[in-house]
Order: sequence, then C-alpha cells, then structure tokens
Amino acid sequence: MVKKPIITVKNLVKKYGDFTAVNDISFEVYEGEIFGLLGPNGAGKTTTLEIIETLRDKTSGEISVDGFSIGKDADDIKKRIGVQLQAAGYYPNLNLSELIVLFSGLYGINKTPMEMLGKVALTEKAKAKYKDLSGGQKQRFSIATTLINDPRIIFLDEPTTGLDPQARRNLWDLIREIRNNGTTVVITTHYMDEAEVLCDRVAFIDGGKVIGIDTPDNFIDKLVAGGFERPKQVKLANLEDVFINLTGKEWREE
Ligand code: ATP
Repeated sequence: MVKKPIITVKNLVKKYGDFTAVNDISFEVYEGEIFGLLGPNGAGKTTTLEIIETLRDKTSGEISVDGFSIGKDADDIKKRIGVQLQAAGYYPNLNLSELIVLFSGLYGINKTPMEMLGKVALTEKAKAKYKDLSGGQKQRFSIATTLINDPRIIFLDEPTTGLDPQARRNLWDLIREIRNNGTTVVITTHYMDEAEVLCDRVAFIDGGKVIGIDTPDNFIDKLVAGGFERPKQVKLANLEDVFINLTGKEWREE
C-alpha cells in the first residue's frame, strides 16, 4: 500500500530570539498512522507540534496539513485537526456534559454529550466536574474534546504522563481505536515502551533536529543487526506486570 502524507514539514526553523529551538527539521506523517515525536525535555517537540497546530508562528519552512498550507490556510487546517486543551480551559463549574455542549457550540457542530462521552467510556461521569475526575479520566475526556469536529488528525502532547500502568494501557487502546476509525494520530511521549507498542512510526528529535525516523521494529532490528546486545534480562516479568496482573485491565480507575 502506498503511504499518503497527510502532514509534510519541510525545513522548519523556529527561533526564540537568538535561540534556535527547531533547527531545520523535515518529516512526513502518513494518513492513518500513529506517529510519535520522541526526544528529551527541551528537544523542540511541543514547539513543532504547536506550529503544525497553527498555535505558534514559525520562523521559516513549509508545512502542509491535509493539503493546506500553514501560512495561507490556517482556518482550513483548524477545521481538520483536533488539539487537546490545557486543563485550565475546562471551566470548573461545568460538568462534562455541559463542557461538550459548550465546545460543540464553539465548533458550530451538534454533537450530543453522550455520543462523545461514549467514545471514551465516560458516560457514567456525564454529571461530574472535570476537576473531580481521575488522571486517566481527565485524559480520556480531553481526547473526547479533540474528536468533536470529526478531525482528520489529532495531536496528543504527552497524554499518558503521570498515569498508572492500567490507565496508560486503557489510553493506548483508545488511541488505537481512534486510529482504526480513520483518524491520524500525532503523539509526543517520554515513554519509550509506549512508543514501541503504540506508534506505527517514530521520529527522534534532539537539540531541535530530527536524528532518526522509522518504525519501532526497524529501529530495533537495525540496532541489533549492528551487534548491539542488551545486558541479559534475568527476570521474565517486572513489577508493572505484577501490578497489571493483580489489578486487572478494565476501565476502572475511579
Ligand atoms: P518537553 O519534553 O520538556 O515538553 P519539548 O521537546 O516539547 O520539551 P519545547 O517545549 O518545544 O521542548 O522547547 C524547546 C526549547 O525552546 C526549550 O529549550 C525551551 O526552553 C525553548 N522555548 C520554548 N518556548 C519558548 C518561548 N516561548 N520563549 C523562549 N524559549 C522557548
């Protein structure tokens, strides 16, 4: 199958004063994939995402999103993407149902709260306030809000940071389901195990540059083919496996 780029980033540069945060990076995201941006703190991941999302200006370079150019067609791009809000955007006195109605109204789209909450297994929390949700539920709700405008692409910036292993796995299932329903997903994460099991392809960013881009399997196979050997694993399971085994895997981080 020929892969069709849905995002093309060419020679992107972002300077903050004299400091170059993004230093001439180029990559493509293919339609229908989960694409991971990986790298250490300060590598330039969030800056790159926010430029693609039309939330920050670039210094130079070309970006197209679903056929639209970032400089000329920002409004068309906004209609086609879903972006997670910072927690501060969730008015504290509204419940989840009311927040969905509010956001639908902002998009001019008529979505029922139950339809959106159903997508992220939160219908039972329709009357709860955002601040009263668990960490995993907060992330699921915020992913629901990215889906209101039936976006072609959603952007998730470290969606599983701070979650317990069970909540992380639930979120991975949700993200895969969204991808399987035809939405392209761009995600940043610090968790390499997460990128390995979740992402179809990953780009490593360091010091504002893309230093590698491939599928997780290809990266690992190439490393091993080059003679890399890991220190022998003595244990066949780890504490996370024990945790999952003891607590189960269902949606139940109440
Ligand atoms: P993290 O994983 O910690 O979120 P990141 O890869 O997302 O890191 P960015 O947030 O994109 O990194 O930041 C890249 C660099 O640009 C950092 O050195 C940061 O300090 C700098 N930077 C980000 N925003 C600004 C700003 N508004 N003004 C000046 N420097 C900034």
